[in-house]
Amino acid sequence: MKQSIVYYVSILTLAVSLMCSCAPKSAEDVFIDNLISRMTLEEKIGQLNQLDPSYDAEPKEALIRAGKVGSVFNVVGAKEANRLQRMAVEETRLGIPLVIARDVIHGYHTIYPIPLGQGATWNPALIEHAAQLTAQEASQDGIRWAFSPMVDVAHDPRWGRVAEGYGEDPYLTSVMGAATVRGYQTPRADSQEPMMAACVKHFAGYSVSEGGRDYNTTWIPDVQLRDIYLPPFKAALDAGAMSVMCSFNALNGLPSSANPHLNIDILRHEWQSDALLVSDWGSGSDLVPHGLCADKKEAALRCINARMEMDMQGNIYTDYLAQLVREEEITEQMIDVCVRSVLRLKYRLGLFDNPYVPENEPVYCNSAMRDAALMAAEQSAILLKNKGVLPIAKSQKPVSILITGPMADQKKEQLGTWIFDGDSALSITPLAAFKAQSSDFKIMYEPGMSYSRQKQIANSQQLMAKAKQADVILFFAGEEAILSGEARCRTELDLLGAQAQMMDMLAATGKPVVLIVMAGRPLTIGKQVEQAAAVLYAFHGGTMAGPALFNILTGAAVPSGKTPMTFPKMVGQIPFYYNRLNTGRPTYEPPVLIDDIPVGAPQFSVGYSSCWLETATEPLFPFGYGLSYTTFTYSKTRLEPIEERPGCYTVSCDITNTGNVDAYEVAQLYTHQKSGDLARPLKELKNFEKVLIPAGETRTVTMVLTRKQLGYWHEDYSSERNFQTHDIKVEHNLWFDTDNADYEVWIAPDSRCQTTPALLQL
Ligand code: BGC
Repeated sequence: MKQSIVYYVSILTLAVSLMCSCAPKSAEDVFIDNLISRMTLEEKIGQLNQLDPSYDAEPKEALIRAGKVGSVFNVVGAKEANRLQRMAVEETRLGIPLVIARDVIHGYHTIYPIPLGQGATWNPALIEHAAQLTAQEASQDGIRWAFSPMVDVAHDPRWGRVAEGYGEDPYLTSVMGAATVRGYQTPRADSQEPMMAACVKHFAGYSVSEGGRDYNTTWIPDVQLRDIYLPPFKAALDAGAMSVMCSFNALNGLPSSANPHLNIDILRHEWQSDALLVSDWGSGSDLVPHGLCADKKEAALRCINARMEMDMQGNIYTDYLAQLVREEEITEQMIDVCVRSVLRLKYRLGLFDNPYVPENEPVYCNSAMRDAALMAAEQSAILLKNKGVLPIAKSQKPVSILITGPMADQKKEQLGTWIFDGDSALSITPLAAFKAQSSDFKIMYEPGMSYSRQKQIANSQQLMAKAKQADVILFFAGEEAILSGEARCRTELDLLGAQAQMMDMLAATGKPVVLIVMAGRPLTIGKQVEQAAAVLYAFHGGTMAGPALFNILTGAAVPSGKTPMTFPKMVGQIPFYYNRLNTGRPTYEPPVLIDDIPVGAPQFSVGYSSCWLETATEPLFPFGYGLSYTTFTYSKTRLEPIEERPGCYTVSCDITNTGNVDAYEVAQLYTHQKSGDLARPLKELKNFEKVLIPAGETRTVTMVLTRKQLGYWHEDYSSERNFQTHDIKVEHNLWFDTDNADYEVWIAPDSRCQTTPALLQL
C-alpha cells in the first residue's frame, strides 16, 4: 500500500502525544523537570557545552566551577575524573555531574581489531563481548560515554575512515553497530545503569565524500540515503544507543549540524528517538568555513534551530545562545529541550546518584580481554588465496621461516587508528609470537623495511641470502596506523614505499611467499596476489595480532574472516560495491578489454557495455569472500512460509564441510528482486550466520526472511504544471514498501557465488 511518509509520521506523532498527555510522569521526567525549573539560562547553556580541555584556552577547572561545562572529554584516569567531577558536583550551585567522554573506538588499553576488521569477523556475538570488555576497562577510569560505533556505510577505500566502520553493507553494519551498542551499554556489575553510553556516528551520509576526501561534500538522493546509509543508525538506536553524533559533511548542500530534516524530522519525529544529539568536534562553528553562515553567531542560531543539542568544543553555544534568547531569535524552551536530553543521558547513566568512580588499581588487559582480543583478531583475518602453502606444515625437522616486511614487528602500528589509550607495550607482534614457539621453527628475521613508506630496502643482500635458505617466506606488509582513519585519505592504494619491489625480489627466489597485509583499508594488491603463494588480509588486528596470525599461519586456528568490503583491482573502479544496480548495458561476457581492441577499430565494432577497459567489472575480491583450510559445499536453497507469522519465511540450506578440519563458515543470505517500481540491485544481503561445522559433517542453516526486509524506499514526483504562468508545483513523495514481484533467494559463501536459489513470489 502506498502511503506517504508524512502520513505515517503524523499518525505516529499524534498517537505519541495522546499517550503522553494521559500517562503519569516517569520518575526520570519528574527529576529532570524539577532540575530544569531551578536552572538559570546560563546554567542551561553550560550543560550544552562539551569541553576538550586539550584545546580550550581557558583552564577547565575555572569553566567547570563556573557551571559552563556539561561534559568533558579527553581526560584520563579515575583520579582526574573524580577531581573534575567533584568541582561540578560540590562546587557548582546545582551540583549537576559531568559526563566524561572519550574516543573509545576499538578497545581501551586492550585493543581489538579496527572496526573494519571486526566487520570481517561476521561474528556479532564476539564483537558485543569485546565491546562489553572495553566498557569494563574504560568505565573504571571514569569514562562513561564512548564516541562509537561509527556506522557509516562506505564504498570508497580511499576514504581513511573506512577503517572505523564495518564496511560496505547496510545489513552487516547494522548488526555489528547494534552489537557494539549492546556491549558498551551492558549494565554495570552493581547497578542497572549502562557501563558506557554509546554514540552512533556520524549522522549522516558522511562516508560518501566526493573523491574519498574526508569532510568533503556528499550528494545522496533520499531513497539511497534511506536504503543504504540510515538503516545502521536506526538499528543502533533500536539497540538502545543513548546518543548520536552529527557528521561534518554538507549533505546535499546542508551541513548536518544545521540540518533540521535529519535531526528533527527523521531522528525525533520519524524514529521517535530521545538519544542526545552531539555535534562533531566543532562541526557547529564549521558552518562558517562551510559557506553556510556569515559568522559564528549565525552558526549557533542555525544549529539550535536544527536541534543540535550539545556543542562539542565549538564554543558557539556558550558564546551566543544567551544573546540569541535576549534578542528573541530563539526561545528558552528550545534550550530546555536540548538540556533535557543532556540531563536524561546523565540520569540514565546513574551519574546523579553515583558521580564518582572507585580509585582502585585499574584492571587492564586481563586474561578475558586478551582472549577476546585474540579470538577477534583470528576471526578478522581473511584468507584470500592459498596454493597449498598454509597452514605451514610441521615436519620432523624445524621448518625454516623467513619473517620479513615493515609490519612484522610493530607493536604500535598493528593497533591501527584511534588508540589514544591503547598500550602498545601490551602488543604481541607476529615476530614475537613466532619467536616464542621457536622449537617448531627455525626463525630468521630480516625486516627489509622498518616502516611501510620507506623507499629503500635495507640490507637487501642479507634479505636475499636468508630468503634463499627459507622453506617459507612470511612477508608482513601493509600500512602504518597513521595512514588510515580520520583525515587520512589516499589517491592510490598500492603497497607503499619499496614494498612492491620487495615482493618482486622475494617472489623471484622461487620460494613460497605468504603475503600478510596489515592495513586500515582494502589495498590494490592484484600483482602481489599473483606473486604470492598465499595471501592473508589481517587489517590492523590490535594487541593480540601477532599470536592470532601465528595461530592461523601454523594451523592452530582456521581462517574464517570474510571481506566486509569489495576489494577493487584498481583505484579507478571506486566507488565499487556488490549491491549495485546492473545498468541497462551490463558487461559483455567475455568483456572487451583494452588489448582486445584492434588498432584502428571502427567505432561500433567493440560494442557498448558498462565496463572498464582495463578491469571489466570484476573486483579483485568480492564482498563476503574468504577461504578456509577446508572447503564447503552448499545445497540448493529452500524457502518455506512460516504459517503462524504471515509475511515471514524460513530460508535454509545444508552446508557440508568436505575437508579435514573443523571450521567456521559464514553462510550469507542474498536476495534479488526481478522487477520493481524502481530498478533493483543485483543482490542484497539480508541475513547471515557464522556456523562451526566439524570436518566431514553437514549442518543445516536456517534463517528468517521477512516481507518487510524485501522492502525499499520508493519515490514519486507528482507535478502540476501551468504552462501559461510557468508555475510548476512538485510534490515529492517518499514511502517504504515491498513490491509484489518475483524474488530469488539464496544462501551462499560470498556475494559472487550463485548457489541454486529458491523463488519467492509476492
Ligand atoms: C571525529 C569524531 C570524534 C571526535 C572527537 C572528530 O574529529 O570526527 O569521530 O569522535 O573528533 O574526538
